[in-house]
Amino acid sequence: MTDYQLSINTTVAISKPELNKLLDVLSGAGYKTIGPVAKNNSLVYEQIEDISDLPYGYETDQKAGRYRLYQNGGSEYFQATPGASTWKKYLTPPRTKLFGLVNVDNKWKEVPVSEIHPKYAFIGVRPCEIAAIKIQDTVLIREDYVDTLYKKIRDELIIIAVNCLHPADTCFCTSVGGSPEAEDGYDLRLTELDDLFLVNIGSQKGIDMVAQLEYAAANSHSLQIENEMMSEAKEKIKDVLKDYKQLPELLMNNLTHSAWEDVAAKCLSCGSCTSVCPTCFCWDVQDVTNLHGTETQRDKVWDSCFNPTFTAHAGGGCSRPTTTSRLRQRITHKFASWVEQHGGEGCVGCGRCIVWCPAKIDIREELNILQEAFK
Ligand code: SF4
Ligand code: SF4
Repeated sequence: MTDYQLSINTTVAISKPELNKLLDVLSGAGYKTIGPVAKNNSLVYEQIEDISDLPYGYETDQKAGRYRLYQNGGSEYFQATPGASTWKKYLTPPRTKLFGLVNVDNKWKEVPVSEIHPKYAFIGVRPCEIAAIKIQDTVLIREDYVDTLYKKIRDELIIIAVNCLHPADTCFCTSVGGSPEAEDGYDLRLTELDDLFLVNIGSQKGIDMVAQLEYAAANSHSLQIENEMMSEAKEKIKDVLKDYKQLPELLMNNLTHSAWEDVAAKCLSCGSCTSVCPTCFCWDVQDVTNLHGTETQRDKVWDSCFNPTFTAHAGGGCSRPTTTSRLRQRITHKFASWVEQHGGEGCVGCGRCIVWCPAKIDIREELNILQEAFK
């Protein structure tokens, strides 16, 4: 510990190995520490116990339909841009048991669902991912509806953010009001320099964590380097979306325009874009019964607006029978009706849907094509 007054918005410096101490502090306080791990040629979010679990010396090459993770001989832990994995798999798991029933002597009895609500500490959350979690908050913790499991996990959540110093070509956070620099929504924010981490404190929990580390006041030289690196990162992100604030009106006034058919022509309706999207939250309920008919349970599972059963009606049929109608739903929801419902876009510009689309469909290009056609 160091004799230095800590407060919210203070920035201190820690050595890189001191991140291990932070992991120990968190696990000692009962948190499951989750961070990026290089696995199966991608970055996945999994439990980490040591900084050697992080993708040290990795970077990515990514564009529409392509993601390649490779070692570059560098010395950064957080250079590689995230893969298909998102934090939402911990906040709203892909499958959650809602309740179970078992038949004993011809009587159905409810089986209690085990109440596991882990305390998570997410390590290395990008600014666009913090924006995505905030969007999920507006949907899942509302005055008129609260997803109780989400809220329990969210209330305990520690967010250790990391500033994005190496945005990918597919990143467009600045086109939807974001930035590669995390401004709020974190407990601690790391900026990775050559030989140290600058740690900005964002909450009282952040103060308590840093107080248990070996730290020093950030010197002006380090802060200047941080500023320069953030400016370079901001310049690197191309402002690709034209007039995105005009999108709600343009999209909703042209729902039957033939340009929708053009942009949907390549789409396979596979739903990959929605499953990797950190803001998509739609879910369904499924009842699963064993072969003997003696046990059954109801699960909440991720769903997708590209799933033909997503709008299925009782008696057969669905409201969006064509790929065009499903793609139009995804785009108008993210960039028009979401604005009306929640006061902002449902997209944070992370670029995952571009990278993980097998048809190489780029949502930025689609939006620009639609805008030109609708003018
Ligand atoms: S846009 Fe791409 S990822 Fe999304 S449903 Fe169509 S083909 Fe699949
Ligand atoms: S729509 Fe695409 S770019 Fe936007 S948040 Fe979802 S995955 Fe990221």
